[in-house]
Amino acid sequence: MQDLAEGVAQFQRGVFPAKADLFAHLAATHRPSTLFISCSDARVVPELITQSEPGELFVIRTAGNLVPAYTPGPDGVAASIEYAVAVLGVSDIVVCGHSACGAMTALAEQHDLSGMPAIADWLRHADAAPAHADAGSDAGAGSAAGSGAAELGALVRGNVRAQLANLATHPSVARALAEHRLTLHGWVYDIPTGTVEELDA
Ligand code: ZN
Repeated sequence: MQDLAEGVAQFQRGVFPAKADLFAHLAATHRPSTLFISCSDARVVPELITQSEPGELFVIRTAGNLVPAYTPGPDGVAASIEYAVAVLGVSDIVVCGHSACGAMTALAEQHDLSGMPAIADWLRHADAAPAHADAGSDAGAGSAAGSGAAELGALVRGNVRAQLANLATHPSVARALAEHRLTLHGWVYDIPTGTVEELDA
């Protein structure tokens, strides 16, 4: 916590003054153009990757960047999506997966989650990921070195596509897509190289 307190002090001394006009503007204005949905992973920092300023990204972060398909009832992810699309009127939604994702690794390696029921339940929202994985990945074919990493990469991409499909089940998203005022994007961020792969729609 000491590091965080020092970070706040550093922000107030060295960062805030240079952006004081921006923060004054943002005090009464919230008009982000993009809803960015990423994993909670500490290594994935949406504003850093996209070099966005405060006020530009509306962010939802969940384990595995999972977006449950719409069902009626209290749901924080659904409420945040609806607010971003129907109230803030974002024009773009990015679902961003990433390399070495713990959630996708647990699925790919079929980890025993019997002692972690919340995680096990949550990861069911990624059940469709394997079906969306790259057709040419030869998942499960052979045990050559690197095939595990290739499988995980295919699953990460498949999961992003599966979550985009889930996203489209949300009424506010479906409506905005039908009215051509919203575009969905699938990204995969590679931690060791800093590259971002944009998936085909
Ligand atoms: Zn992750």
